[in-house]
Amino acid sequence: MQLYNKLSAIERAALIDQAGKDRLTISFYQYYKIGNPKIFRNHLFLEWNKLEVLGRIYVSYEGINAQLSIPADHFILFKKHLDAISFLENVRLNIAVEHDNKSFLKLKVKVRDKIVADGLNDETFDVTNKGVHLNAKEFNEMLANPTTICVDMRNHYESEIGYFEGAITPDVDTFRDSLDLIEADLKDNKEDKNLLMYCTGGIRCEKASAYYKHKGFKNVFQLEGGIIAYTRQVKEEGIDNKFIGKNFVFDHRRSERITPDVVSNCHQCGSPCDTHTNCANEGCHLLFIQCDACSEKMENTCSTACQETIHLSYEEQKELRKGKYASNKIFKKGRSEVLKFKE
Ligand SMILES: [Zn+2]
Ligand SMILES: [Zn+2]
Repeated sequence: MQLYNKLSAIERAALIDQAGKDRLTISFYQYYKIGNPKIFRNHLFLEWNKLEVLGRIYVSYEGINAQLSIPADHFILFKKHLDAISFLENVRLNIAVEHDNKSFLKLKVKVRDKIVADGLNDETFDVTNKGVHLNAKEFNEMLANPTTICVDMRNHYESEIGYFEGAITPDVDTFRDSLDLIEADLKDNKEDKNLLMYCTGGIRCEKASAYYKHKGFKNVFQLEGGIIAYTRQVKEEGIDNKFIGKNFVFDHRRSERITPDVVSNCHQCGSPCDTHTNCANEGCHLLFIQCDACSEKMENTCSTACQETIHLSYEEQKELRKGKYASNKIFKKGRSEVLKFKE
């Protein structure tokens, strides 16, 4: 019985090309008390592997958070499989706007403590007492309301390339930091303002809204299905689009373009740019924004030090990384002294 992915990313990419089938990129989540996440995880892997599902799926005692891709012609079977699981019946599936057959190259189903690393102690508040869910049209109306404060619940590297006009975009590295910062910022407006929040696919707002209600905010609203569902609705229903720039996503595509506006700059030269890259130095992997010209000049690295490193032999590079094991594991996201134009 195969319970884990066996193909390398390269082998998988070749298979996808060979198959020549269109794939859909889909995400969904559900908070639900799962008795035995390990058994559930194995079940999902066995069934989804058969359906050629690829992606990153987290299963925990609190539910499931899935980002995946699937051959379009297996979608009906996949949906049937989901509907056969009691707590996933009719779960809202967010289907990506931009297609990329290689958004994921492996099927990874992992058991985690939580489906989102939110840093919260769920025992201390009622996680089911959530905010009011709004669709795109309702969200626009609430956004236009003068007593509304709109808050982006994502991290700095996400909101940097795209956001809702007028939203507060906290300069934070983690969801936990953002929760505290926003609460401190809005402490005098807990009762007289509408707190309107959004994130990529809606999952972070599920917890955040409950947390803020627990903290005394009276009027809490959240964008159902996040920016992904919003974008689909404005397109399909001809609603006014209030999101500008790109939506950062957590797969190989890195982002989806929503409007032609470029709201950020290359971190190396400052020219308008909203393309993220990871530093080509294996020992760095810094996530940052880099324009084509800088990419060519710097050979996809974040600094001259990293550029020099990639020209060393494999053995020399390995030697350099020795003793820096921990720092390699940290996926640095868009913060480094070497990036002159990172605000
Ligand atoms: Zn540049
Ligand atoms: Zn680097």
